[in-house]
Amino acid sequence: MSKDTSNSPRVHKSESPEKIMEKLVSLSKRRGFVFQSSEIYGGLASCWDYGPLGVELKRNIKDQWWNTMTKTHDNIVGLDAAIMMNPKVWEASGHVQSFNDPMIDDKTSKIRYRADHLIEGYIKSLQKKGKIEESERVHKEYETALNNEPVTKNLYDLIIKEEIKSPDSGAFNWTEVRQFNLMFHSPLGAVADGSSIVYLRPETAQGIFVNFHTVRESSRMKIPFGIAQIGKAFRNEIVKGNFVFRMIEFEQMEMQYFIKPGTQMETFKAWQEERMNWYIERLGIQKEKLSWYKHDQLAHYADAAYDIKYEFPFGVEEIEGIHSRTDFDLSRHQEYSGKSLEYYDQDSKERYIPYVVETSAGCDRLFLTVLADAYSEDEIDGENRVCLRFKPSIAPVKAAVLPLMKKEGMPDIAMSLIKDLQQTFYVQYDESGSIGKRYRRQDEIGTPFCFTVDHDTLQDQTVTVRYRDSANQERISIDSVKTFLLEKLF
Ligand code: ATP
Repeated sequence: MSKDTSNSPRVHKSESPEKIMEKLVSLSKRRGFVFQSSEIYGGLASCWDYGPLGVELKRNIKDQWWNTMTKTHDNIVGLDAAIMMNPKVWEASGHVQSFNDPMIDDKTSKIRYRADHLIEGYIKSLQKKGKIEESERVHKEYETALNNEPVTKNLYDLIIKEEIKSPDSGAFNWTEVRQFNLMFHSPLGAVADGSSIVYLRPETAQGIFVNFHTVRESSRMKIPFGIAQIGKAFRNEIVKGNFVFRMIEFEQMEMQYFIKPGTQMETFKAWQEERMNWYIERLGIQKEKLSWYKHDQLAHYADAAYDIKYEFPFGVEEIEGIHSRTDFDLSRHQEYSGKSLEYYDQDSKERYIPYVVETSAGCDRLFLTVLADAYSEDEIDGENRVCLRFKPSIAPVKAAVLPLMKKEGMPDIAMSLIKDLQQTFYVQYDESGSIGKRYRRQDEIGTPFCFTVDHDTLQDQTVTVRYRDSANQERISIDSVKTFLLEKLF
């Protein structure tokens, strides 16, 4: 019997990262996963629109996360907080004062860079050239610059001392380094005075913190418990590019887990393990492409922070952060709002401000992770094909039904099968072109199963099921197609 081989290794041809990204972007556009936003006007940097298949894939990723968080944990509940909040929220959280990136402008090209990225790029270039000792020296000086005030001046001095040139123009003609706040803001209502400024949230987490009591009381939660949220966040990122990896408007999936002080390390470890497994088991990401990064330099409020990283074609980059945030956020909101955010623990008869362990993932980055991870090129029946080897449960189209010919009643049988499957799954009907071409079209969008209605169907009410990854085929009864899919997809 044929086997579904969706977990078999992806075959990447050895191509440059740029070429692979080019292929992903082009496939995304051609097949309706992602389009450049407002393209007919020349687009807008770092803004992307999800097309018909992209929106399905993204929703499937979000559903996997949401279901894991809220359905498989009976102490995690959901929330959908407003994007705009009282501006004091962002003073309390520290974002108004310090949600900044250090930036520097090339006066020749007028291109703006993140000063820290410029130095990191320089260190990498030294490593590539085999100048290991020199790269280590600059790395040490870079860390000293970051850990001492004034950071902007330290970074500037290092750029000047090392004579780091502009990556685009090659010029050595820099402005000073300045801090640039990443929050978008707008006057609220007609009066544009400073007192009525609102911000577009740069993270979803604060909506959860300020709702700590309302959610806890209404859902009768006891510590430990979590609040999960999926929603848009906005950052005026200086560095743009790499497709949907870094956008100015993006979606986050964040979960804040409220716990008793002193229990944070064991909770942190448990979430680390759970989140890494989620990528492998729920999204079907190749284990060897995932890794941990430990933050040695912690934010002043954190007592542990790790990132989950994925090996993208352009490098190993963060896809999710797991942070132990102590009681910083709730304490600050208590201080700024004047409302108690303490919790009375009936078991220990203690009153305390809970500690928080958070898991924070970017939906769009996971979309790119899933796409890049699934992309493969191989040869089937002497023909090259592109195949997106999505885990079947997250594939945008779950199955295609194809009548072998447009005659002898085959389209009617196929249509009636489609109607039946549509009640439960997102499926496609396709009758145009040779059967081989139709299979390739489905491979390219990652449809895990194709059911073909042919001459035998007319005799014995069976259809051919073709597996995307192996291209193997077998026959099953038309009545069992739905059960077959249910078994394979859930
Ligand atoms: P980076 O260092 O890449 O800017 P970050 O450490 O600032 O990321 P967090 O604030 O921890 O990111 O946000 C949590 C998650 O949100 C990230 O792991 C990432 O998946 C996602 N994310 C953050 N910024 C963006 C962005 N500009 N575009 C898309 N996703 C983002």
